[in-house]
Amino acid sequence: TTETSTGKTVLVTGASSGIGEATARRLAADGHHVVLTARRTDRLDTVVAQLRDQGHSAEARGLDVTDRTAVSTLVDAVVADRGRLDVLVGNAGVMLLSRLDALLVDEWDRMLDVNVRGLLHGIAAVLPHFRAQGGGHVVTVASIGAHEVVPTSAVYSATKYAAWALTEGLRQESDPSIRVTTISPGVVASELADHITDPLAASAMETYRAASIPADAVARAVAFAVGQPADVDVNEIVVRPAAQR
Ligand code: NDP
Repeated sequence: TTETSTGKTVLVTGASSGIGEATARRLAADGHHVVLTARRTDRLDTVVAQLRDQGHSAEARGLDVTDRTAVSTLVDAVVADRGRLDVLVGNAGVMLLSRLDALLVDEWDRMLDVNVRGLLHGIAAVLPHFRAQGGGHVVTVASIGAHEVVPTSAVYSATKYAAWALTEGLRQESDPSIRVTTISPGVVASELADHITDPLAASAMETYRAASIPADAVARAVAFAVGQPADVDVNEIVVRPAAQR
């Protein structure tokens, strides 16, 4: 079978809240089968039940992207069930902002593990299937932080520059049957900043958050890229609140 512009099988990481949840909802509404993954399976189950009530096709699977074996086992299981996996939306991420001299080294590791290694685990899991089935699409949710560094964002931005580079590298190395898209959002309403422990960074985020746009604004950008015909590769979309400088 070849890739079609509707009815794809899409796996979204970090689909239990925010941008991942909004993306899962929108892609399901667009007629794709969506596999929602995250650690909080109760949240996934609620979203999947709503999507099925609306007549859409979706399933929930527990997944911690830092577990390389779990990621490849899940991707293999989806391909075994569905016959193929067309799109990976690598969205799972954490943003634990702080100045370097606050030395929150465990939080640096956490961001590297989820935002970089977690993304790599997804890419490693899907590429053999993309090759075998003759194509596929990796959509990476990076950030405006993949383009600029501000005080407190050094490590987070480093992980997002890495996400950008990995996605661009994949594009350059892949044959044209594999498409890649980096989505770089500005400030979006979600739970992302709730996990910041550094008081300085947390209070700075409060100002930013006043200008946030809904997660569906990013979901629409993902859906645009996914909905293009197979010979059109949307490589990057930057979407920010009009009020964000
Ligand atoms: P949320 O905190 O609402 O969502 C983050 C998602 O990532 C959750 O579903 C969470 O699920 C998941 N996640 C975290 N750790 C893991 C893990 N180890 N394994 C699997 N899933 C994990 O924030 P957003 O929706 O805002 O963030 C989504 C992406 O968008 C992130 O990559 C973020 O960096 C990026 N982004 C967000 C911006 C914003 O302003 N909100 C701006 C630019 C980029 P669970 O905890 O259930 O596992």
